[in-house]
Amino acid sequence: MNLYNIKDHSEQVSFQQAVKQGLGRQQGLFFPSELPHFDNIDELLEMDLVSRSRVILGALIGDELSDEALAGMLKRAFHFPAPVKKVNDKVSALELFHGPTLAFKDFGGRFMAQCLREFGGGQKITILTATSGDTGAAVAHAFHGIDNIDVVVLYPKGKISPLQEALFCTLGDNIHTLAVEGTFDDCQAMVKQAFDDAELRQAVGLNSANSINISRLMAQICYYFEAVAQVPKEARNNLVVSVPSGNFGNLTAGLLGKAMGLPVKRFIAATNVNDTVPRYLETGEWAPKETVPTLANAMDVSAPNNWPRIEELCQIKGWGLDQLGYGAIDDATTVSTLQGMNEQGYLCEPHGAIAYNLLEQQLADDEYGLFLCTAHPAKFKESVDEALSIDLPLPKPLADAAEKPLLSDTIAADFSLVRAKLMSL
Ligand SMILES: *Cc1c(COP(=O)(O)O)cnc(C)c1O
Repeated sequence: MNLYNIKDHSEQVSFQQAVKQGLGRQQGLFFPSELPHFDNIDELLEMDLVSRSRVILGALIGDELSDEALAGMLKRAFHFPAPVKKVNDKVSALELFHGPTLAFKDFGGRFMAQCLREFGGGQKITILTATSGDTGAAVAHAFHGIDNIDVVVLYPKGKISPLQEALFCTLGDNIHTLAVEGTFDDCQAMVKQAFDDAELRQAVGLNSANSINISRLMAQICYYFEAVAQVPKEARNNLVVSVPSGNFGNLTAGLLGKAMGLPVKRFIAATNVNDTVPRYLETGEWAPKETVPTLANAMDVSAPNNWPRIEELCQIKGWGLDQLGYGAIDDATTVSTLQGMNEQGYLCEPHGAIAYNLLEQQLADDEYGLFLCTAHPAKFKESVDEALSIDLPLPKPLADAAEKPLLSDTIAADFSLVRAKLMSL
């Protein structure tokens, strides 16, 4: 598999290099030089998740991984289901939260860990990632206990839920967590700075595991196929998929799936009031604002770092950006949407509710809708309990984590402190 740097097409790398390097020169994102196209979609959709993913990723990655190695990696990474649940006659939910950290980022995080273990060759690797909530947990769990790999997670102090924090800041061992006095964008900026620091990169074998890493996107393509496999056959060509978006990795993966032949009529880019992309699609002007905290805090991102990949793909495929649905939902509407969903018998959390709301608004009479549920409702227990006047029981992984002491260090949003921590490992 060949990939090129979107900012400098002369930089070409293999899949292995792209996974290890994360970002290219000038912080450019890697993009596949070629995408396979499947004409045997019906046949693919008959397969189970792991077997089908082996075909899809095998075609994408090519001979850099043996079929046998890939099969083993996928078996270890995707050991939990991605069920589609009916909400009403026209709309279903794709539940992506049945993995160990109860959020969709388990798919990308676990596959990436398998890739690095496979490609690592016993050299020291340090994973540095910024999280607005779920990436950190998924990455920490995916890498916990792997030899020769240290993980450093930066997150905005006080801006993620206490349960989210418990899930990845209580692991210890090779997992190091830093609570940053700042926003998620500050954390993300420091990660970028670290990758620009050639000496540091070399010294600690720096690697990023946030949604810019191509291996994570590739894993995510697989569950879009799994979703379409479960919707009624007659809905397949009239399917609208709504994606709750922050950094837009999830939507990128969906669009890559479509480019590879997956029958999806259109996608909806659903955000909270951090609406840089919806405003851009409306006005053509890219104008990020200060990040605002919301109930759907894993989407509190005003400078979404995967967006250039979406532009690149649309350009290659000749898709106009006007084919994308979009919209932004405020907290009050998120709460009333959660209540409306609960009345229909579907218990959701803020991120999924935002995607559902826009889907209901934009679905035509002859279309069938699917929205992504990116986290287990109990991961956002405070908001869900309050919106629905209930007391959600904690699933076991969360209950266990909540009992343990937090092991994070608190630091100012100052890159030199992050650098010192990395050098000390
Ligand atoms: C990360 C996350 C999102 C946003 O996904 P992106 O790929 O960054 O757009 C949505 N919901 C939840 C629960 C998340 O953790």
